[in-house]
Amino acid sequence: MHIDILTLFPEMVSGVLDASILKKAQDKEKFSYNLVNFRDYTENKHQKVDDYPYGGGAGMVLTPQPVFDAVEAITKDKGTKARIILMSPQGEPYTQQKAEELAKEDSLVIICGHYEGYDERIREHLATDELSIGDYVLTGGELGAMVIADSVVRLLPDVLGNTESASKDSFSTGLLEHPHYTRPADFRGMTVPEVLLSGNHARIDEWRISQSLKRTYDRRKDLINKLSLTEKQHKLLNEIEENENYKAY
Ligand code: SAM
Repeated sequence: MHIDILTLFPEMVSGVLDASILKKAQDKEKFSYNLVNFRDYTENKHQKVDDYPYGGGAGMVLTPQPVFDAVEAITKDKGTKARIILMSPQGEPYTQQKAEELAKEDSLVIICGHYEGYDERIREHLATDELSIGDYVLTGGELGAMVIADSVVRLLPDVLGNTESASKDSFSTGLLEHPHYTRPADFRGMTVPEVLLSGNHARIDEWRISQSLKRTYDRRKDLINKLSLTEKQHKLLNEIEENENYKAY
């Protein structure tokens, strides 16, 4: 996968994309990226990328010309297939399902806004997707672009060491993941659930399924409501609902 990120502040991005799993993904040639400063595409001599809003009001608005020109230059060989993502607090809320959808693409272009936002024609005539990373307002789209790059790249084949670890993560299954424990079995009197030390894999699987369901029920009922539950999950959920003090094991 190749990701082009259009930003006025490229120095914000590379620290994140050149570290950890994303760095390893680049070393394995599973992922590459390019930072494009769309200021380089301006046609005015002061390299201005923004202007006052028509109708008045506070803040500056990104003008269409440099953004259209930069995207057209990047995508000219990619045809109509390129996904052009506009970062925006007004966009579709970004989810794991969206990350899984984007991970199927060969190439993404992510546009980071700044200041008061974009000229509406960028949104209407250039972007294929408009994504928000949450109901709050950031100064720019760079953090969102990094969130998307990180969450998508870790889903690409052979990027994570253990191919199972992404598919069992929270949200991939529709539920929050079960708790994890590691050594020591007793830390300052805080012990690991006995079942995890039993070596009985069938029991451990059962425990994990029930913990995952209980945790999601306690914290994110909205996710449970979206699920089509298996018969077993239904039974467990009934037990959880009937018993306030349900202990999942
Ligand atoms: N005036 C805009 C509004 O009220 O919708 C907010 C503009 S914000 C200060 C500047 C830029 O930061 C946006 O154009 C967008 O690229 C980015 N941004 C801010 N919050 C974001 C969020 N929650 N998700 C994604 N991008 C965001």
